[in-house]
Amino acid sequence: KAAAAKSKEAAEAGAPTVFDKIIAKQIPSTVVFEDDKVLAFRDISPQAPVHIIIIPKERDGLTQLSKAEERHTEILGHLMVTAAVVAKQEGLVDGFRLVVNDGPQGSQSVYHLHLHLIGGRQMNWPPG
Ligand code: ADP
Repeated sequence: KAAAAKSKEAAEAGAPTVFDKIIAKQIPSTVVFEDDKVLAFRDISPQAPVHIIIIPKERDGLTQLSKAEERHTEILGHLMVTAAVVAKQEGLVDGFRLVVNDGPQGSQSVYHLHLHLIGGRQMNWPPG
């Protein structure tokens, strides 16, 4: 079975992902914003001059956006507001892109819900 499918199943069974290790500071990351609920850090493989990953510290079943339920409303809103705060902090005054990859067809590889905040260059549409 493909690596992505295996990590999806493991995360759904409750196994930690690489992002849990980043939250626990067991592996290094460049944190740009943190509060008690969310963490934002630089993507290790940036697709633009600014590429930041924004995650909830508690996964609470949110391996991917399509698992969202009513109880996640507050954290999902907080993640979006954090994206706006971090975009401002990064000086993205002319705009940016916010991406959620969901599932195999969405090209998701880490099964802990995350926003990609991407900016610092002109984006194009449609995406790949
Ligand atoms: P994709 O890998 O297709 O972008 P995701 O939407 O699941 O799929 O994104 C996971 C993101 O996490 C990737 O952009 C990847 O570069 C990033 N990433 C993986 N490991 C680390 C790490 N240790 N530190 C920072 N970013 C990481």
